Amino acid sequence: MLTTLGEDLKVLRAKLQDFIQTELFPYEQEHQLNAEEDIPREAIKWVRQRSRELGFYGINLPIEYGGQDISLKGLCLLKEELARSGAVLWGQVLGEIGGPLRIGQMLESFTKEQNEKYVIPVAAGDASCCFALTEPNAGSDAFAIETTAVRDGEDYILTGKKHFISAAPYADFAIVIAKELVDGEKPRVTAFLVDKKTPHHSGFELGNIQVPISGERIHAELIFKQCRVPATNIIGAPGKGLLLGLKRINTNRASHAAGFVGMAQHLLDLSVEQAKKRVQFGRPIADFQAIQHMLAEMATDIYAARCMVYDVVEKIDRGEEERAGASMAKLFASEVVNRVADKAIQIFGSQGLVKGHPVEKMYRSSRMYRILTGTSEIQKNTIAKELLRD
Ligand SMILES: Cc1cc2nc3c(=O)[nH]c(=O)nc-3n(C[C@H](O)[C@H](O)[C@H](O)COP(=O)(O)OP(=O)(O)OC[C@H]3O[C@@H](n4cnc5c(N)ncnc54)[C@H](O)[C@@H]3O)c2cc1C
Repeated sequence: MLTTLGEDLKVLRAKLQDFIQTELFPYEQEHQLNAEEDIPREAIKWVRQRSRELGFYGINLPIEYGGQDISLKGLCLLKEELARSGAVLWGQVLGEIGGPLRIGQMLESFTKEQNEKYVIPVAAGDASCCFALTEPNAGSDAFAIETTAVRDGEDYILTGKKHFISAAPYADFAIVIAKELVDGEKPRVTAFLVDKKTPHHSGFELGNIQVPISGERIHAELIFKQCRVPATNIIGAPGKGLLLGLKRINTNRASHAAGFVGMAQHLLDLSVEQAKKRVQFGRPIADFQAIQHMLAEMATDIYAARCMVYDVVEKIDRGEEERAGASMAKLFASEVVNRVADKAIQIFGSQGLVKGHPVEKMYRSSRMYRILTGTSEIQKNTIAKELLRD
């Protein structure tokens, strides 16, 4: 729990806060960055390099990759802080969007050659990657994927389409989960490292950019048209593709939940400030019990979500299997940030409805959190399955 936060994590968090205030915000202001417009590549390059110099980029990776092998709890604490800041580039500081956080959990499945070609450039901030599982006909039902892989000599030929893939617009390679068709056998699910197509190399093509309710332009389709991939690019072993996804599922859900808590806290911080500042009927709206109760409910929800998240990440750090706990944390924190965003709009009144206002933006972004990384219904299915297990 947060009460047992060690000195080292406190120091790290303070260092991150300092970076956000003294470098990240001034940079974003100077370059007039807007999360709902294309983020210039130079900005991504700058934040990754600077964050790497400070030890944040790839902090989840082992020391030999330039990381600090940080605990999940430490990572969550930093993610919470970044989400709380509301910085446009928050997803680039630790490498959440297209960076080392995409591959951290899968590292042990990579070969030495794959590490050198793919992992090291990502760790250095020189390359970007994405994780591609979801397809138009396969969302919650991952087994329904239709992207196929067929062996052809020393290669595989991939055919199909992925969609809603985060960081796809600037990914140099993708971790692609495909259905491998083997003569006379049941299809098996296999993961491949697939480079982006170039004039000289077969690879994936970028399809449409898919702009969700948050307005960000960082999700897209990946198209595989007779895409040739060497067999040496299989991650782990043939048939182990879904296992790879499952390996990262608990940590992924728990760490997403920490980000939701951070955003909810940011909404509360802004709401408290607004309630003290906004005067109606001759006094600050904070004087009205109706407003006080909304603030109290927001704070209570956030406190409960935070306790839940850090309890589960501590268990994961201790090596406990926390399938249901991670789902509970993701489910609860995503619902909390939605409730909190709704109340924040209520407190801000019309100001909070203006397009581009931070509260309006977070209201839209938070709505996605009940869908991505497993919908609320799928989390409930997982929790119930654990409860009903014999
Ligand atoms: C912003 C964003 C980023 C994303 N990034 C990535 C990414 O990087 N890589 C990637 O592979 N995917 C990504 N996704 C896809 C995401 O994982 C899927 O959206 C999610 O798994 C849900 O699938 P779906 O949207 O197709 O909904 P569907 O599965 O079609 O669900 C529709 C509705 O049916 C319900 N439902 C479905 N099955 C059941 C069931 N068994 N029991 C009860 N209810 C059920 C759902 O809960 C939901 O309410 C991203 C999505 C978003 C929105």
